[in-house]
Amino acid sequence: MNGQSRNHTPEAKSIGAEAYRLAAELYPICRSITGNGVRDSLGIVSQRIPLQIREVPTGTPVFDWTVPKEWNIRDAYVKDPLGKKIIDFKDSNLHVVNYSIPVHETIPLDQLKEHLHTLSDHPDWIPYKTSYYKENWGFCLSHRQLGTLEEGDYEVFIDSELEEGHLTYGELFIPGQLQDEILVSCHICHPSLCNDNLSGVSLATLLGERLLAQPNRYSYRIIFIPGTIGAITWLAMNREAAARIRHGLVISGVGDSGGFSYKKSRRGNAQIDRAFAHILQHSGQEFALHAFSPYGYDERQYCSPGFNLPVGRLSRTPFREYPEYHTSADDLAFISPEKLGETFGVVWDVFRLLENDGLYVTRNPYCEPQLGKRGLYDTIGDNEMAMLWVLNLSDGEHTLLDMAEESGLSFGRVQQAAELLVEHSLIVKHDEFQMTINAIRT
Ligand code: ZN
Repeated sequence: MNGQSRNHTPEAKSIGAEAYRLAAELYPICRSITGNGVRDSLGIVSQRIPLQIREVPTGTPVFDWTVPKEWNIRDAYVKDPLGKKIIDFKDSNLHVVNYSIPVHETIPLDQLKEHLHTLSDHPDWIPYKTSYYKENWGFCLSHRQLGTLEEGDYEVFIDSELEEGHLTYGELFIPGQLQDEILVSCHICHPSLCNDNLSGVSLATLLGERLLAQPNRYSYRIIFIPGTIGAITWLAMNREAAARIRHGLVISGVGDSGGFSYKKSRRGNAQIDRAFAHILQHSGQEFALHAFSPYGYDERQYCSPGFNLPVGRLSRTPFREYPEYHTSADDLAFISPEKLGETFGVVWDVFRLLENDGLYVTRNPYCEPQLGKRGLYDTIGDNEMAMLWVLNLSDGEHTLLDMAEESGLSFGRVQQAAELLVEHSLIVKHDEFQMTINAIRT
């Protein structure tokens, strides 16, 4: 089966607006790597796509790691010596160090300061801090506010629980004609942070929604997991599914106004790496390609040597390269419907490329067929060039992506030429395409 003329790019503008609305709905929730914030967020995503929700008990060994205790928080504050609430979790969930253990005591300012975190470079922003693997507590606040605190005794209160429970993740599986899978992975463990976290979650949701609405050649698996421990847990519990991943994408930090950055898989030349390079080159957008490195988001786990999956990462401004990263300034004003929509368009074009790529064989291998008598040749332009390239490279060994790369023409144009030549019975789709690809990768 081929995927000719199916999966048209849905309207990027309205998709961007939908993604933004979803991010805004998820924004107030206090998420972490475990707990009800993740469950509530997955519940909202489930209103749009039928997620399977998985609960993995605390203490479950996952490779070299262990599923941690579950963290939940109801309330937290700091009161000044006059009894006035000066830091309130209800104003911003970033105020509490994520995974803080419960505390209720009155302590002098010096002692309190050991548990306070600020950003001196950006004195009005609240930093985002976590303490997942070391039991501790703390508050985050603006540096400007820290400067106003006077000597005296402060009441600190954190109404949290860190107990045996579960790690929760969500998964959408969309069966296609092939068992071979395309993976989309996003992390869902940050509290009120928009670009780092919610941009990926909302776009992954809309990708799932649109993929569900059409027939697909590949099967798709979209997973919403806590960062690091979630990817490790998923891989530990899904070895068979992982072995079916032919192309994969970690999507994160895709709503800011920067250009695109694509980080290649550890393999460096996987089809997904080539597909992103090609689509970005022809997108007219600013972009940069980065080699794999063992630091970043969950591509680290998918690309660990034992798995070495063809999984890349799409972002806009790379994390840590924008000052708003992991601060209260990564808010709803930092992402935009327009940029979310553009990102959706790029990912959709990559999926369309992967869906439609294939091998073709010419029926006229001896010299060029006469295009003029078939009404296919007028004056030489890009369409005629595309036909010449496709005719010449339809030897059963070059995919359409190979042809696009070698010709410098866009995949879409090469695909159109191939469809026209099939219509005129000049080439045929290589029946063995999938088998060949299977042989190449094993
Ligand atoms: Zn982060």
